[in-house]
Amino acid sequence: MLALTTLSDVDVRDAAESDVVAGLPARLVARPTSPEQVSALMRAAYEDDLVVVPRAAATMLHWAPRPTACDVILDLSAMDRVLEHQAGDLIVSAEAGTPLSRVQEAVRASGQRLAIDEVVPGSTIGGLIATNLSGPRRVAYGTARDLVIGVSTVRADGVMAKSGGKVVKNVAGYDLGKLMVGSHGTLAIVTSAYFRLHPIPEAAVWLRATAPSPRSAQSLVHQAVHSQVVPAAVEIDAHPTGETTISVLLEGTSVGVAARVDRMATALGATTAESPIGDLGLPGTDAQPLLKITSQLSAVTEIAQTAVDLGLHVRGSAGAGVLFAAVPDSVDIVRAVDILRAESTAAGGATVVLRGAPDHLDAWGPVPALDLMRSVKNRFDPQHLLSPGRFVGGL
Ligand SMILES: Cc1cc2nc3c(=O)[nH]c(=O)nc-3n(C[C@H](O)[C@H](O)[C@H](O)COP(=O)(O)OP(=O)(O)OC[C@H]3O[C@@H](n4cnc5c(N)ncnc54)[C@H](O)[C@@H]3O)c2cc1C
Repeated sequence: MLALTTLSDVDVRDAAESDVVAGLPARLVARPTSPEQVSALMRAAYEDDLVVVPRAAATMLHWAPRPTACDVILDLSAMDRVLEHQAGDLIVSAEAGTPLSRVQEAVRASGQRLAIDEVVPGSTIGGLIATNLSGPRRVAYGTARDLVIGVSTVRADGVMAKSGGKVVKNVAGYDLGKLMVGSHGTLAIVTSAYFRLHPIPEAAVWLRATAPSPRSAQSLVHQAVHSQVVPAAVEIDAHPTGETTISVLLEGTSVGVAARVDRMATALGATTAESPIGDLGLPGTDAQPLLKITSQLSAVTEIAQTAVDLGLHVRGSAGAGVLFAAVPDSVDIVRAVDILRAESTAAGGATVVLRGAPDHLDAWGPVPALDLMRSVKNRFDPQHLLSPGRFVGGL
């Protein structure tokens, strides 16, 4: 009998038809309610040599390459509490399965927010750390990597560990919390995290301007990004048929924002808008493959032009150099990725297939420092039992 199924008081069941990871069926689903239970489950799985894939809200579990195996889904949805909010210190901590929206609700009464956009509704703290979720406000506040100040984790062998904590200036030792950001469940299970918060600005106004194409929007983007009025977001949305939209967000005090809106509107020939085009969402439909294309800011509009010429719908942050592109059925995804990867790499970035990569296409592409990443993975998870195959270089 598997050690995992003999644990008392821990919810372990046979997987149902819907318990799949990127189409791969799991054997068992374990649903811990505390870090101690996560530790006991991981220790037992380690003893049995079982492959574990963490799951939070499962909104994007089918993204990223399929793992090479999946014996156990570690379902963190029962660990969903906001643990601590110290308004005076602008910090909050929450368990990994807590929806981002619940964290926002808990801190809103104090006039505060976690400055991460909810690009995919339902995202949780564990999921957004594991995937490094980011949206338009990344320009002003960074990503989870910049806002997380401490994480509690459980290693593949069940050992519990803490890095950082509730003090923003906590800097003894390596910052292992940052290593968890974007690791896609391949290094350790995140059980809870501390984040720094920001005050909710008194006023927030979106401005919108249009141009016939991404290339012809270059000067709009340049003016917005380099403007003295310091935008919190500069978004671009471009479609193969139709015009290109630039949305700019200005945040701050009511009086200050009003003056900055005037200056920006005049410079761009822009008008105020309810929200950015697409309401922060990703382009395309959930069934379409999705690319993430990064580059230096100066190359964003040229790359968007290439993507649109290839027939892709592009949307993303011209202010942070992070574009998302949806690939319709009619487009050869391998050719599109080849072209965009060459162009973005030359511009200091990369092209990654976030969702829907065919098996013969390398979703991550060439990655510098792969040897170093392999040795990090081998130290954290020597038997490669955590989400194997999902990360760069097949790690
Ligand atoms: C490859 C990839 C890149 C993405 N990039 C972006 C982006 O740049 N911008 C953007 O807006 N959105 C991005 N997303 C989407 C966004 O991050 C997700 O919507 C959100 O983070 C998923 O939250 P969830 O709670 O539903 O997690 P799930 O869908 O349940 O899990 C998502 C991933 O996180 C892992 N995971 C979940 N919980 C834990 C945990 N406690 N410890 C360790 N690992 C865990 C899972 O195994 C899985 O790999 C990306 C998603 C993926 C897969």
